[in-house]
Amino acid sequence: MEEQLVLFYGKGLLDLLESNPSVTDYSWLALSTRTPRWAIHPLRQLLLIGFLYGSFRAFHERSNDEGSPFGNGPWPCLNKAADHYKDFIITQCIITRCSDSGRPVGTFMCSCGFSYSRRGPDQSEDDKFYRGRIKSFGSVWVDRLQRCIQEGMSYRSSAGILGVDTNTVIKYANGAVMHREIISIQKKTKKVRASLRSSATKNKTNNRVDWEKRDLEISWMAEEACKSILSDINSKPIRISIAMIGKRIGKLSWLEKHQQRLPITLRILSNYVESVSQFQMRRVRWAAERMAGEWPLKRWKLEKMAGLRPDYSQAVSDEIDRCIGQSIISFNFTSSEVITSWQH
Ligand SMILES: [Zn+2]
Repeated sequence: MEEQLVLFYGKGLLDLLESNPSVTDYSWLALSTRTPRWAIHPLRQLLLIGFLYGSFRAFHERSNDEGSPFGNGPWPCLNKAADHYKDFIITQCIITRCSDSGRPVGTFMCSCGFSYSRRGPDQSEDDKFYRGRIKSFGSVWVDRLQRCIQEGMSYRSSAGILGVDTNTVIKYANGAVMHREIISIQKKTKKVRASLRSSATKNKTNNRVDWEKRDLEISWMAEEACKSILSDINSKPIRISIAMIGKRIGKLSWLEKHQQRLPITLRILSNYVESVSQFQMRRVRWAAERMAGEWPLKRWKLEKMAGLRPDYSQAVSDEIDRCIGQSIISFNFTSSEVITSWQH
């Protein structure tokens, strides 16, 4: 592509505009075709558009036609709890790329606060009604959930009405009153233990209920612990693992021995547990934060402060470039508003 672009415009013109992509390995052309993390000069964007589409007008017209992987909006709201379920009222769709498969991912956001995503491209009109992951539930959904609970409906029937699985209902139904519940559970624990000891044969039902409550209680504590670790920018980062969180909340033995009885906790933890690479990226961001104000931000210094070994992955390398790039932008433009608008 680089060669073709140089042939298209000619080396002379590109050199004159200081936009010859073949001069460096890490050129503006390479950056333009990746996730938009860097600000690309508008002139260079126009060069790329001219090369790909012939003219800006052709590009503009094309972006309105059927070229989108999810077709044209509006798209249906797939919030089963809303009166407008399946009505075509969503006009906002953000398209990103799946990091595993490279396929486009559309995130659809409704004005009721509900948003969902799915991997594309859509193969037929029916795909418009396919919901992948729910990103947010929104107030309409939460209100409906509360009504279901108040009416004394079971988790299972509430799940049917709300269009989610039972675990999700349990998690959100209890989440709102969790703090109150934990206190009452703690008060009851002694009583329950005493009654369990006194009964010669263990009642199976009691046992199940006990674990369900425990799971909810631990899931809540685990999520709080993960959030507090991620938001603590003053201390040296610690890698989030199940064992580390277990130790921190004092429930390590349960998490080690009774994982199958703690499905909600494990599902929540899986959102936070970090791979080596993810942890390295967080360390890079932390180090960059510590070195804010230093300019130019040196790559080797960032690597050293983040404690990276030389064999880190491409994703980590990209994160370092992003942080260095950001330090350059914030050095040139001190207003955060300018930075935000340039990042889009
Ligand atoms: Zn909606």
